[in-house]
Amino acid sequence: MMKAHDGMYIGGDWRPAAGTDTIEVVNPVDEQVIDRVPAGTAEDVDAAVRAARTALPSWAATPPAQRGAVIGALRDALAARREEIAETVTAELGSPLPFSQKVHADLPITVAGSYAELAATHAFEEKVGNSTVFHEPIGVVGAITPWNYPLHQIVAKVAPALAAGCTVVLKPAEDTPLVAQLFAEAVHEAGVPAGVFNLVTGLGAVAGQALAAHDGVDMVSFTGSTAVGRGIGATAGAAIKRVALELGGKSANVILPSADLAKAVSVGVANVMSNSGQTCSAWTRMLVHASQYEEAVELAATAAAKYGERLGPLVNAKQRDRVRGYIEKGLAEGARLAAGGPESPREQGYFVSPTVLADVTPEMTVAQEEIFGPVLSVLRYEDEEDALRIANGTVYGLAGAVWAAEEAEAVAFARRMDTGQVDINGGRFNPRAPFGGYKQSGVGRELGAHGLVEYLQTKSLQF
Ligand code: NAP
Ligand code: MG
Repeated sequence: MMKAHDGMYIGGDWRPAAGTDTIEVVNPVDEQVIDRVPAGTAEDVDAAVRAARTALPSWAATPPAQRGAVIGALRDALAARREEIAETVTAELGSPLPFSQKVHADLPITVAGSYAELAATHAFEEKVGNSTVFHEPIGVVGAITPWNYPLHQIVAKVAPALAAGCTVVLKPAEDTPLVAQLFAEAVHEAGVPAGVFNLVTGLGAVAGQALAAHDGVDMVSFTGSTAVGRGIGATAGAAIKRVALELGGKSANVILPSADLAKAVSVGVANVMSNSGQTCSAWTRMLVHASQYEEAVELAATAAAKYGERLGPLVNAKQRDRVRGYIEKGLAEGARLAAGGPESPREQGYFVSPTVLADVTPEMTVAQEEIFGPVLSVLRYEDEEDALRIANGTVYGLAGAVWAAEEAEAVAFARRMDTGQVDINGGRFNPRAPFGGYKQSGVGRELGAHGLVEYLQTKSLQF
C-alpha cells in the first residue's frame, strides 16, 4: 500500500499526483528537511474538483443530523490522534509541544464537535409568510488555508462546509502540509463518503490559483494575507462565485486610564507572543494613556523578556527575515527599542527575539502593517477620542481588546471600534462566536452558526 503522503486524497483514495514535483517540509527549529509532499498541479485540482462535484448531490441530500453524526465521528478520529497532531504541528510549524497540544490539536477538536452539534440542530428550513425558505448548500467549496494555525484553519472551513451539505477541495499551506494529510486520514477513518473531502497539496501560485479559478468550484474560502486575498476575491468576483476571506490584522489593545495596568499589559504581551506572534488577531498595538506610558513600556519590556527561551521560531526563513526587517524599519523610523531587537537570538532555527517597540506613532510602518512575529508596538494617546482615532486608524479591523475598571466603560469604547471582535478585560476566546474582519481584514465570518450560514444559499418556495 502506498504511504499516505506519497499522494493526494481524492475521491476517497490516496492517489499519485499527476506530476513529479515535490515540496520539502522543513522543521523551523533546526532547519532540517523532515519530509516531502507532492506539489499538486492544475491536473490534480481538476481531478479533486470532479470528485467533489460527483459527491455533491448525495451529500447535499443527506439529512443534516446524519451529516452531523459523520462530523462527530471526524471529531472523534481527530481526538484519537491528538498527540500525533500536536507532534506533527510542532515538527512543521515549530511551536512548543504544550501549545501544539492545547491549541493546535484541541481547538480544532472543539470546533469539529461544535459543527457535529450545529449540523443536527440548525434550522435548514423556515417559514416566511406564504413561503417556505430552504437553506441549501452552496456547492463545491475550494478551501485555501495558511500555516499559522494549520489544523484549526482547515477545520474552521471544512467542518461548517460539511455541516451545510457542501463538498470540499482543500489546498493547505505549503509549509504545513503534514497535518493536512493527518486530517485527510481522520476524514477517511470517520467514514466521510468518498469525494466529500479532497486534499491537494501544492504551491499557492499553482494549486491554489488553479483551485480558486476552477469553474467547478462554487465558493472559495481563503485565509491568509490581504495581498493574496485581494487576488482571490477578484478572481471569484469575475466568475460570480461566493467568496469568504479571512485576512490580516493590526489589532489594538486599548488600555483606558481606569484599567488594571499591570494585568492589561501582561495579558497583552502574552497575546502578542503566543504562537510566536503568528496570529492574525494578535493585539500588536498597545495603546496607553500618556500619564501611564513609561510605566506600561517598562512592564511590557519586562514581560516580553521573560518569553526569551519559551518562544518557538517563526515558520520559515522568509518570515523571520521579514519580521526582522520590520523591527529595523521601526527603529529607523524613530521607535525606541524597549526589549528584543532585530538580531537573531540563536544560531540555528528561524527565531526572532520577543521585541517591544516604544515611542511608536500611528503613521509608522510598524503601526500600520501586519508584522506576523513577536513584535509589540506601544503607542501613546492623549484622551479617549485620540485612542479611538488611533485604534481605528489602519486598513484592518479583525480584533482588539479594551480594558477599564468598569465593564460598561470598556463596552462603550468597544462599540465604537471598527473591528470584528473585541475582548473586554481579558475575555476568553469563544470558539462558537463569529470570527472575521471589518474593512480589509476580510469578508464573511467563521466559527459557530455564523460560520455555517456562509456555506448556505436560500431557495424560497411560495404557496
Ligand atoms: P499567503 O501567501 O496569503 O498564503 C495563504 C494560503 O494561500 C497558502 O495556502 C498559500 O499557498 C496560498 N496562496 C498563495 N498565493 C496564492 C495564489 N496566488 N492563489 C491561491 N492561493 C495562494 O500567506 P503566507 O505567504 O503564508 O504569509 C504571508 C503573510 O500573510 C503573513 O506574514 C501574514 O501577514 C499573513 N497571514 C495571515 C494569516 C491570517 O490568519 N490572517 C495567516 C497566515 C499569514 P503557499 O503556502 O504555497 O504560499
Ligand atoms: Mg505564501
